[in-house]
Order: sequence, then C-alpha cells, then structure tokens
Amino acid sequence: MEDCLFCKIAAGEIPSKCVYQDDQVYAFYDIDPQAPTHFLVIPKKHIESVAAINAENSGIVAHAFEVIAKLASEMGFKEGFRVVSNCGKQAGQSVFHLHFHVLSGRDMTWPPG
Ligand code: 5GP
Ligand code: ZN
Repeated sequence: MEDCLFCKIAAGEIPSKCVYQDDQVYAFYDIDPQAPTHFLVIPKKHIESVAAINAENSGIVAHAFEVIAKLASEMGFKEGFRVVSNCGKQAGQSVFHLHFHVLSGRDMTWPPG
C-alpha cells in the first residue's frame, strides 16, 4: 500500500533492524523501545489493524503468533513477555498497518495506561 510506513519497512525500502522474516511476516526492533527487548511482528501484506482481520486473512495472524512463540522461546523470555496490538486512535495506534508489539525483560503492570 502506498505511503504506509510498515509496508515500506517490510519491503526493505526503509531500513530496520530485522529479528526474523519469512514469506508472510517480518519482525523488527521498535525504534523507540518500551522494554529491554521490544520488537514488532507485522504481516508483509497490508492489513490495517486487528479490526480488519477476517476469514480471508486470519491465517497470516495465526502464523504471526506461531512466530512470536518461536522467537520468545529462542530469545529466552523465561520470565514472561507481553504481546500488544493497539487498535484505533483511542487505543494508541499510530501506524495503521497491523503489528504485534512483543515486549520482555522488565516487570510490567496492569492495567495498561
Ligand atoms: P503503535 O503506536 O501503532 O501501537 O505502534 C507503532 C510503533 O512503531 C511504535 O512503538 C513506534 O515506536 C514504532 N515505529 C514508528 N516508526 C518506526 C520506524 O520507522 N522504525 C521502527 N523500527 N519502528 C517505528
Ligand atoms: Zn502497510
């Protein structure tokens, strides 16, 4: 999609620090980390947010979560980790291409702000 920051990152048109990639998803470190480890997992195909997940595209979401579990294991998140997806402006979404934040390495509080 034109003028989508994360489409450009997934295509390699804007540089990022890669964690993992395959034909369906791209994972890269967040530019403004909120925990000692903070990366984003995105579908390479443009999906606007969780609100746009449907029967046609949900397979890529299931795959993204398989990748998150694999990376959490490989990266040794033994004490735990958090997966977050902000959906819509009020929830704090600032980039309108579906992404899952994966955060680990510090104690976290609940509820979120
Ligand atoms: P949101 O606010 O939509 O939930 O999350 C967007 C995330 O993308 C933020 O945590 C922000 O720091 C990150 N981000 C924004 N622009 C860039 C960028 O150009 N590169 C990387 N690596 N992360 C970005
Ligand atoms: Zn996009």
